[in-house]
Amino acid sequence: MAAAERVMPRWLLWLHSAVLLTLVPPVECAATRLYTEQDPLVILTKDSLRATLTDSSSAWLVQFYSSWCGHCIQYSGTWKALARDVKDWQGAIGVAVFDCALEDNFDLCRDYGIKFYPTFKYFKAHSGAAERGTIYRGGDREIPSVRQLMVNILQNHTREERPEQCPELRTYNSVELLPLLGLRSDHYTALIIEEPQSYTGREVILDLLQYSGVVVRRAVSSDRPLVDVLGIKELPTVHLLQPNSSHHTVHTEKRLRFFFTSLLRSLPGVQRKIHTNSSVLNPHKGALSDQSTQPPWRDFDRSLVYAADLESALHYLFRVELASHRSLEGEELRTFKDLVTLLAKLYPGGGAVVKLMETLSDWLLSLPLQKIPYQAVLDLVDNKMKISGVFLGSQMRWVGCQGSAPGLRGYPCALWTLFHLLSVRRQAAPFALQHTALEAEAAPVINVMRRYIRTFFGCEECGKNFEEAALSDSVAEIKSPEEEVMWLWDQHNQVNDRLAGSLSDDPRFPKGAWPPPSLCASCHDEERGLHAFNRQQVLQFLLHHYSDANLSHKYTVEADVNLEQVNVGQEQVASKELGHKEVGSEKVGENDVNKNLSEDNGQVFPGLIKDHSKNENGLNMDGSKNVNGLNKADIKNLVDKLVGHLKPEEGAVVEEGEKTGSSGDHANRTLALGFTSVDMSLCLLLYVGSCVFLMLLFFFFRVRSRRWRLRPPKLAV
Ligand SMILES: Cc1cc2nc3c(=O)[nH]c(=O)nc-3n(C[C@H](O)[C@H](O)[C@H](O)COP(=O)(O)OP(=O)(O)OC[C@H]3O[C@@H](n4cnc5c(N)ncnc54)[C@H](O)[C@@H]3O)c2cc1C
Repeated sequence: MAAAERVMPRWLLWLHSAVLLTLVPPVECAATRLYTEQDPLVILTKDSLRATLTDSSSAWLVQFYSSWCGHCIQYSGTWKALARDVKDWQGAIGVAVFDCALEDNFDLCRDYGIKFYPTFKYFKAHSGAAERGTIYRGGDREIPSVRQLMVNILQNHTREERPEQCPELRTYNSVELLPLLGLRSDHYTALIIEEPQSYTGREVILDLLQYSGVVVRRAVSSDRPLVDVLGIKELPTVHLLQPNSSHHTVHTEKRLRFFFTSLLRSLPGVQRKIHTNSSVLNPHKGALSDQSTQPPWRDFDRSLVYAADLESALHYLFRVELASHRSLEGEELRTFKDLVTLLAKLYPGGGAVVKLMETLSDWLLSLPLQKIPYQAVLDLVDNKMKISGVFLGSQMRWVGCQGSAPGLRGYPCALWTLFHLLSVRRQAAPFALQHTALEAEAAPVINVMRRYIRTFFGCEECGKNFEEAALSDSVAEIKSPEEEVMWLWDQHNQVNDRLAGSLSDDPRFPKGAWPPPSLCASCHDEERGLHAFNRQQVLQFLLHHYSDANLSHKYTVEADVNLEQVNVGQEQVASKELGHKEVGSEKVGENDVNKNLSEDNGQVFPGLIKDHSKNENGLNMDGSKNVNGLNKADIKNLVDKLVGHLKPEEGAVVEEGEKTGSSGDHANRTLALGFTSVDMSLCLLLYVGSCVFLMLLFFFFRVRSRRWRLRPPKLAV
């Protein structure tokens, strides 16, 4: 201080300290930040503490803490992880916190006899108003110990006191269980056979508290008759009694609680119970009213990604979500352009959708407009100009994203899938975005996704939540494509965790930590008694799951077209054999899709728009072997359409240089359409070359004329 005074006058030091003090957050702020409403636990206040704990239908485990106590701050992460781990036990036992550092709470902490922090107290269900709880004196405060304490608390209830929702946690014996073998039932019965001191069975029973369709019973390995009849060799083990009376011992990669729980939750017909009092509403209910009549069920494999979901998402995105904007300008236009670039460069398959995105991208890049009417985009998406090989199906065919009821899953599910897939594609092709506006970004997929969700996604609340998450788990720290893939996976799992059990959770596809062990067993581990992901294995799994090799084209419109083409081809062969000259494409022409694809056999203008007919698989979309592009009619159509949409009175803002007369206008826009940057550079080069040539010519004649003038006139004799 003295040294500081030597260089700074005393009054300046006071001023400096005062400013610093105003910047330090008060204790109350820190307290409220230790636990927030986003944590899966109950934050008790002076007004809610007694009401919550008195005559409650469930038991409670409360941590009385002080927000100034360093240990409490360090321990808060463990307490949150515990609360998340036993979130589904709510109804039988809840987890709560109460902050004794808040002035408002002083009296209650004294009343409850809190002397040290943190103090854990538990309260049985149906406790009286005078009950002050029992202190947990166990030295070990690690998650497995506290979780076992919770099981013990529940088991210490008498039959009368027991929380109504708490299932039986006692062991069953062979006399009770053996008669169940061979019986038909309306539900599964899972028998967990384990060592007497094991907690796994009871934890699995509580994990399934919120699920219907399965009953879990536990038995111990010392029950020899049961073990012998069921042929149990390893412990712990799940023996499953099916509703149809058959039964078998279930194989899981690892004999861990998480594996048993995931397996039982994924049995057909096992569903999460729906809570009508859930605070999280399905933001998309009503928005996707197209699903009000349930389409026929499409069988699918959960280990695959379906192109039909991606195309349905793009159909909804381009034709419904974005179409609610009459025109795009400023940030909206920039976001739209970047999304189209991302899709053009990273969307898989090189098929009709990629051609459409490339066309759209080229068109957007070559249009010097600050505002575009969305109808012009729609016309391209609908391929009104009948460009060969460009197509986006106009149906929603959810496959992996089917919901069990109208309004569930569908578009948001497919949007997640699309962005996961793009992040993995970017990892597989790190140079794909070279020479685009996204080239320099470390996390281009996430950044475009964020901007899209913020700007266009129909669910505003979802957008805010996603943005908050992106800000707190800093996207700026992402350095590599692998980190981008993992960041998105992490965020998605946090959303799954938050929404599990909410109204938007489809009971047939319950949300939870993903991927489940049935998709990736090696992704799961246990650390200090708590489920943990093996991140390296998860990355490998994601890179495979969202890879091209794992993309199924079943149910896509393109698959339908191919199927029809095969049929048509077979018909052609048959008719040739019969000596007919009939061309199959006439029949294909009955179908709208095929009509678009078969209509351009005219003259080709290569370069105006890239060759859109051949995809990477060598598939020729129109069935012909000609080089395809635009014929004269295509170009005329394209120009007429776009000139129609871009008339200044419709709100399109044309940049200064583009404001020409009406005939010149037409020509200019034809120029602006479809030319690539290479074409434009060549034009420029030609232009500069001609100028230089003209200048040289000009100087040459100037010098020559000067010489002529200087030459002395010949004297006439
Ligand atoms: C950016 C965004 C934010 C959202 N925010 C909210 C919100 O705040 N509140 C709300 O109610 N709804 C929100 N939603 C919707 C919600 O997340 C679900 O998409 C919707 O409820 C449908 O859920 P689902 O069960 O079909 O599976 P989804 O969660 O949509 O998952 C789709 C598919 O992705 C795969 N998957 C699941 N988890 C992962 C993972 N971690 N990593 C990689 N792949 C995975 C699975 O195959 C799954 O079927 C949001 C959606 C998006 C796109």
